[in-house]
Amino acid sequence: MAAGPLVLGVDLDGVCADFYGGLRPLAAEWLGVAIENLTQEVTCGLREWGIDKAPGGYEAFHRFAVGQRALFQNLMPIPGAGPALRRLSYEHNARIRVITHRLCAKYLHQIAIRQTAEWLDSHDIPYWDLCFIQDKAVVGADLYLEDSPESIGELRAAGKRVIVFGNATNRGIAGPRANSWPEAEELVLNEIARLAGARAAAVSTKGRE
Ligand SMILES: [Mg+2]
Repeated sequence: MAAGPLVLGVDLDGVCADFYGGLRPLAAEWLGVAIENLTQEVTCGLREWGIDKAPGGYEAFHRFAVGQRALFQNLMPIPGAGPALRRLSYEHNARIRVITHRLCAKYLHQIAIRQTAEWLDSHDIPYWDLCFIQDKAVVGADLYLEDSPESIGELRAAGKRVIVFGNATNRGIAGPRANSWPEAEELVLNEIARLAGARAAAVSTKGRE
């Protein structure tokens, strides 16, 4: 077991940032429909909104949202995300490692990275590491906060400890589950305490050898 602070791998979209809430008015604009016609019960890929059937499909919509409407800069934080991450970082010495799959459209990388860094700073979200990667399981962390069913499955298949951050896209996925940041913070604090206990026990066992 590695020494040092607990490394918390934190996803952005759907965990720290209200990705689907931010996309909904942009989808209404792009599709030319009333926002009320776009359900909030969505799954990854947004087929419920008909994005996949529109000209250019999801990638064209994504390019519009990020390139023309600065999506990653303008998303609202999920309530409580910033204060909870600041407490975990400052008061509990957790190392926040942001792990996000935002580089999914060619030639949009500079914009996506700049908007992401500006958003993190503007909401005073503390972090030491910022990883843009699709295969999140190759990034080490003691604990992950994630909402994507696909990423949760991959992380768990790799033996990682994952807290599901609950939203419409991951209903039915097995817990542990947090449906809000207060719930997530409590679960992370439990894990910090568990890890501290395990490390103390390991030191004590070694001392008796
Ligand atoms: Mg996500």
